[in-house]
Amino acid sequence: MPQKYSKPNYFNTLLTDFIALVYPELCIGCREALKHSESMLCLRCENDLPKTHYANHANNSLEKLFWYKTHVTEAAAGYFFLKKSRIQHMIHEFKYRENKDAAIFLGEELGKILSESSRFKNLDCIIPVPLHPKKMRIRGYNQAELLANGISNILEIPVHNDVLFRQTHSDTQTNKGLFNRWTNVKTIFSLGSSSNIENKHVLLVDDVITSGSTIEACANKILQIPHTKVSIVSLAIASG
Ligand SMILES: [Zn+2]
Repeated sequence: MPQKYSKPNYFNTLLTDFIALVYPELCIGCREALKHSESMLCLRCENDLPKTHYANHANNSLEKLFWYKTHVTEAAAGYFFLKKSRIQHMIHEFKYRENKDAAIFLGEELGKILSESSRFKNLDCIIPVPLHPKKMRIRGYNQAELLANGISNILEIPVHNDVLFRQTHSDTQTNKGLFNRWTNVKTIFSLGSSSNIENKHVLLVDDVITSGSTIEACANKILQIPHTKVSIVSLAIASG
C-alpha cells in the first residue's frame, strides 16, 4: 500500500511554539523556564542534585538504619534531602502541586541509578509504601506508587499494589494508650493478596526516609510472606 502523505501542520507547530512562549515548561528544581533540549529538570539543577551514590555502596547510612532491626538485602536513596534545596522543591511538586509527571520522571531517574548498580540485579517486583487512607483521599494518588511506576518503566518489573495496606485510623485507634507511637507504626500495615510474592525479591519504594521506622515496618510485614527478600529504595534520605 502506498504511504499516505501527510502535510506538515505548520499552524500546530506555530501554536505549540506560541504556547511554549507564553506558558514555558518550568524546571521542577528551580522553576525557571526550561530550554527546548531540557525536560522536567534544567541542566544546572540536574548537575547540582545532591546524589548519595548509595546504590553502589554496601553498608551505606541508609542500610545502617536497619541493622539489628530487620533483614534488608540492599538499600539505597537517590539524593540527600536538604531543606529549601532543589530536591525539596522537586518533592513539593509531586506531593502538593499534583505534578504526577514529576514523580514518574524522578522514579525513572531512580530506576536508572539502580540499573547502573551491580547490587540491585535480582529484583522481581516493586511495592510502594502505602499512603495513609486519609491522605490518599485528599491527594487522590500515592506519590510512592508513581515513583514505583517510574522505576518499573526502567527495570521492567511489575508494581504490586494489592499486597501491602495501611490500616485506617479507626482500625488502629483501639491501640491508643496501650502502645507507644513506635508500636503503632509496627501495627499499621497489613497484608493483602500475597501468594504471588512468595519466593520473590521485593523492592520497597518510598519518597523520603527519615527515621526509617515506617519502611522497616513494611519490610517486616513483607518478610512474613514465605521465602521473600526485601530491598529498599527511596528518592531521598533526610540527612541529620
Ligand atoms: Zn532548574
